[in-house]
Amino acid sequence: MEVLTRFSTRIAGVASGEKVTHPVTREEVYTRQWYLEMLQDSGIKVVDLIQEPTNSYDENAVAVFVTLPAGRVQLGYIPNASAVCGSCNKKFNPPIPNTCPVCSQVDPATIFPVDRIGLATKITSWLNNGYKFKARVMSIGRTSDGKYLGASLEIERIQQ
Ligand SMILES: [Zn+2]
Repeated sequence: MEVLTRFSTRIAGVASGEKVTHPVTREEVYTRQWYLEMLQDSGIKVVDLIQEPTNSYDENAVAVFVTLPAGRVQLGYIPNASAVCGSCNKKFNPPIPNTCPVCSQVDPATIFPVDRIGLATKITSWLNNGYKFKARVMSIGRTSDGKYLGASLEIERIQQ
């Protein structure tokens, strides 16, 4: 097995989606945040990259799944920037907002759709060409604002 490319990325969408009552703190938390906690406790490193061609926001979406002792769960997605703010150059993942959350530019005409040239599109293209991937968790920690748990992955494109 030869490693053709090795790169790292964060998992996107770890603080979105459904919520659940945390079994210990009793607080309402994003389900994926709870999964990240369980992942951290389990010490499990191997995750799976699963294409999601029926995703209505992004046909090149690549979901990140893991099998925990409690079952198989989705942690989030591989990032895939798809639009850029013409005012501050912030890049966005789908869905594209009408107002830039960074510079508050409200004119929708200043947020430009760009080609889906992000990492998920690149991985989708490789998968469609028969390449395989191995992905593992490198670290789990708080995001820069301290509010949420996030995770970084190391991904290897391999030749079998
Ligand atoms: Zn902006």
